Amino acid sequence: MSSTVAVVVGNLLPPAQVWRWPLVLCALAALALALARRRRLWWVAAGTCTGLAACAFAARLPLAIGEKSLPVRFTVAIRDGWVESTQGFRTRARLEQLEWRGTPLQHEREIELYIAGSAALSELPGAGTRWQGSGELSGGARMPLGSGVLRVKSLLLLRPLPGGPWLDGVRDRGVGALQRAAGVSPRLLRAAGLASALMLGRREELQEGEVTSLRRSGMAHLLAVAGLHVGLVAGFFWLVLFGLGVGPRGRRWLIAVAVFAFALLSGGNAPVRRAATATIAYLVARQLGRPLVPLPTTWAIVAGLMVLEPAAVLEPGFQLSAFVTLALVRWVGPVQKRLVALPRWLASALAVALVAQCASMPLVGQHFVAVAPLGVVANLAAMPLAFVLVAASLVALVLAGWWRLAGAALLQLVAATQWTLDGVSRLGGLGSVPFPPFVVLLAGVFGALAALALTRSRWSAAAALAAVAITAAWLVTPLPRPFPHELRALAVSDGMAVLVRSGAGAVLVDAGRAPMEAWRELSRARVHRLDALVITHPDIDHIGGAAVLLERARVGALMYPLVLAERREIGRLRRLARERGIPECPLAAGQLFRIGDATCEVLWPPARPTSADNNASLVMGVGVGGIRLLITGDLEASGEAALLASGAAVRSDVLQLPHHGSRTSSTASFLRAVGPVLALAATGVSPRFAYPDRTVAERVRRLPSVLVSQPGTVSVGWETGGPLVLAGGEGVRVHRRQGRERE
Ligand SMILES: [Zn+2]
Repeated sequence: MSSTVAVVVGNLLPPAQVWRWPLVLCALAALALALARRRRLWWVAAGTCTGLAACAFAARLPLAIGEKSLPVRFTVAIRDGWVESTQGFRTRARLEQLEWRGTPLQHEREIELYIAGSAALSELPGAGTRWQGSGELSGGARMPLGSGVLRVKSLLLLRPLPGGPWLDGVRDRGVGALQRAAGVSPRLLRAAGLASALMLGRREELQEGEVTSLRRSGMAHLLAVAGLHVGLVAGFFWLVLFGLGVGPRGRRWLIAVAVFAFALLSGGNAPVRRAATATIAYLVARQLGRPLVPLPTTWAIVAGLMVLEPAAVLEPGFQLSAFVTLALVRWVGPVQKRLVALPRWLASALAVALVAQCASMPLVGQHFVAVAPLGVVANLAAMPLAFVLVAASLVALVLAGWWRLAGAALLQLVAATQWTLDGVSRLGGLGSVPFPPFVVLLAGVFGALAALALTRSRWSAAAALAAVAITAAWLVTPLPRPFPHELRALAVSDGMAVLVRSGAGAVLVDAGRAPMEAWRELSRARVHRLDALVITHPDIDHIGGAAVLLERARVGALMYPLVLAERREIGRLRRLARERGIPECPLAAGQLFRIGDATCEVLWPPARPTSADNNASLVMGVGVGGIRLLITGDLEASGEAALLASGAAVRSDVLQLPHHGSRTSSTASFLRAVGPVLALAATGVSPRFAYPDRTVAERVRRLPSVLVSQPGTVSVGWETGGPLVLAGGEGVRVHRRQGRERE
């Protein structure tokens, strides 16, 4: 356990590489002392040194990466098919070589690769081919051991290399065989896509809708090949070998071989690799006849996996499976004992469900910002289905190559199971509620309590109860709201996401750059329902988080400028909205409507096409509680001029500075025409450029008007007819119109 804690610390503050060998020596010395003296202190020291040494050895992102990205040259082998995302086409690739300014960089083998710009799906490099090229490596500076993302601006920057891993060729043939077995039936083709994803790690044929519906109930992991599937494959082979009458010793060896082969074939991504390692280690230990005490064994496996791959601790999937497994091993027995009144099978099923729910909820909430209280029940019900799915896919893959009819029959079974699974998942997702992420201090307290709860200490029961109580209290405690009306620039890291609230109503204008952030920040503000999601224009720093919101949040309507309706990025959101039954609302200048207590007047763009995207940004006056807000998106100087020339009523109390306060916008004449009391540069917390621009800031101050830039969440609140009060910054109080004084 001490090495686990050391790896967690080592990820945040990795020791310099010069300490590698000294740490190994310390670990060996402590281990020798521990074996000689049999004192707990030396075991703790040995574990700590091992964990830190593992972090010192681990590949890390270069420090220079910061918020920006590094120009790199690389050689990769494409691992998977391509999936379209908001940031271009995406796939997984295996890194063979990576260098920055001529120096080779260490990095994890597997990396996500994006190709931006417009490319046709058929032009993209196929799975199993090798490529050399140049692009940008980006990653999180705060988590130096994490893995990065490679972005390539255009296909022209990639050059094919001869050769490719033979295994990818095998996978390609497998995908082909499954598709031939499916024939032309769309239902069977979907099943073939699912079987390829489960068995061969090829996700390109997976339909977006399938993943989304499972994600809502926390069951998407059933489609991502991971530790669970390793377990299911092992179980399947156990059954088959048991049926064939193979003895326990031979069975263990054969299962170990099968698990290894499956890990290779399914792509051997990190979770599969880890689960396969753990399973094989367990089988070998059993084979050698070791008596295994469950809790220390599980801890040893978790610690071992973390020492092998320290960066794994940053992955939600690893955290979740390690934590839930430990919790199940530690607490199912004691909980079951408390339920003596019930029949045995019911008591054990209830105990498993209860422990898994309590353990998974805080972590799932922290990472995915929503918890499904029914999700665990649905998951338990889904287990047998998942087993059938894996077994049928496996046999279909084996048979499809040489007996097409049998392959097709098994694909029918895959399709039927998937259909049932979808129904179960829908039930599970019914009670899904947003979970606001823990604040740092609370996360620390929770972590300490959870660690204590997973030991055999006499305080563990109290710690477990306290951890559960903290989670429950955090989930239900409402946040105080000092003002009935509020304008809040959400603390997304880059881009714009502005929330307007009045009474129970809430409208979000734009959704920032990173997919999850707007959803997380909304949840943090305890906003569970949006009356409308308004998209000003399809730039990635405004639209990046919109898809996640449409998938997961309760959204009343999707609004966007009519002239941009046919843009690819907006088209994708419209498809999502249609799938979820969310009404669409294309906007054009001249429209006037109400959302809850707010009156909205669309001022720009007109219904006829205009030139560039930024100048087609939505401009909207919103009247709430006696205050008028002007939303401007990324409008630039020429757009401002055209807007003024159209004679639109722009005068407002609060102005969202166009284009984040960049120098392309906010001309003096525009600012004078709006005459705001308060000008907000909605930039996100760490924008890519130095916003707001100095000349714009000077112009705003000369109005005179209060300029608000965005170091974190910025909130402006007011009572109906009352003064604007700025919170989150330095507590500036602004009187309207008459006074314009600051306190
Ligand atoms: Zn922007």
